[in-house]
Amino acid sequence: MSLVVMKFGGSSVADAEKIKRVAGRVIDKKKAGNNVVVVVSAPGDMTDDLITLAEGVTDAPDEREMDMLLATGEQVSIALLCMAIKHKGEDAVSLTGPQAGIHADTTHTRARITKIIPTKVHDGIDKGRIVIVAGFQGINPNEDITTLGRGGSDLTAVALAAALKADTCEIYTDVEGVYTTDPRVVKKARKIERISYDEMLEMAGSGAQVMQARSIEVAKKYGVDIHVRSTFTKNSGTLITGEEKLRRREMEDVVVSAVTFDRKQAKLSIVDVADRPGIAARVFGALAKGGVNVDMIIQSAARDRSNDISFTISRGDVKKALALLEKVKHDLHANDIISDDKVAKVSIVGVGMRSHPGVAAKMFETLSKNGINIEMISTSEIIISCAIRESEVDKAVTVLHKAFGLNKR
Ligand code: ADP
Ligand code: ASP
Ligand code: MG
Repeated sequence: MSLVVMKFGGSSVADAEKIKRVAGRVIDKKKAGNNVVVVVSAPGDMTDDLITLAEGVTDAPDEREMDMLLATGEQVSIALLCMAIKHKGEDAVSLTGPQAGIHADTTHTRARITKIIPTKVHDGIDKGRIVIVAGFQGINPNEDITTLGRGGSDLTAVALAAALKADTCEIYTDVEGVYTTDPRVVKKARKIERISYDEMLEMAGSGAQVMQARSIEVAKKYGVDIHVRSTFTKNSGTLITGEEKLRRREMEDVVVSAVTFDRKQAKLSIVDVADRPGIAARVFGALAKGGVNVDMIIQSAARDRSNDISFTISRGDVKKALALLEKVKHDLHANDIISDDKVAKVSIVGVGMRSHPGVAAKMFETLSKNGINIEMISTSEIIISCAIRESEVDKAVTVLHKAFGLNKR
């Protein structure tokens, strides 16, 4: 008998009607002769609402307690889905992340899965039940609940599929698959039939919310094929798989596969820092130690033995970063630290870039022709990103999507 892992995101279980619909879909899969393990996210915007609630109580919520709070969202979904399935006459059991044997490290709010011991999952399957697991959570060596970073139910699903050696891992969401850009922004975005792990990883890392980046890392490591598809239609979606399984044509004909964006970035500039060895190490060392991820970096040319260092981070990290930099400001002999939180990032992604020159030039030309100023640039093998004003994101995405031939005809 095949084993299928089905993951349903928050929008798919947002209310009682939707939960009943998901229950029907899960039962259909079981009745088609499969063993079924389901992973669910918290209903609708519950995770965001819980965060707002915590911020109403304190401006620096304790991270252990934050995990305790956020993990409750997924528990709401597993219990309700289990009830709905039982109401329709199928047997099911709900399990929290810890009950499902999902072990994680001690980093609160963005823990990594260290191992999965799915004894109770196997028990449920052996008893012929549909097993429903809470996404986004695990248990750490101190027996505390941790969460796996935003979008972490994708990671739960992929890691469980790997641990259970599932035949299929299906991610059900509110769009029909992975698109050439966010279909909420560009109506002419096209559904991608198949995409490589590497491209999906770059897309997720540069803002395409549809899959969590770390879930793709795990999928690649364990060779889990992912089928992203809609909760609300029966159409087939997007297969995320290894490059070796993609047709040659798919890889070579397409130069740019997708346009992505992240509206919520910020730029910090450290002005007039001493121009001597060790300064960058001091700045970025302090940020790394404090858990702040730095994205793009520019250091200006030295003048009068000083220079400026600018870099981008996630907007949510600004307060933390400023506090960390304040501590080292004196050692840097810096004049000032300026923060600008109206910055966004737009990126183009595609394995075809490896063999096609001139892609970056075309991106810059397209932005410039449309009057969009580029503030920073970063490139690597299959992605080029530009920092721009937040107010220009929609325009930038639309013109790049068209310029690289991605519009639906
Ligand atoms: P879920 O609640 O199912 O986890 P998410 O909100 O995390 O769903 O992800 C789905 C959303 O991702 C879609 O509604 C879509 O607007 C957005 N999205 C952004 N970029 C893309 C893309 N390239 N392809 C598909 N969806 C995208
Ligand atoms: N509920 C969590 C979040 O909103 C996890 C998830 O949806 O994947 O980030
Ligand atoms: Mg998601």
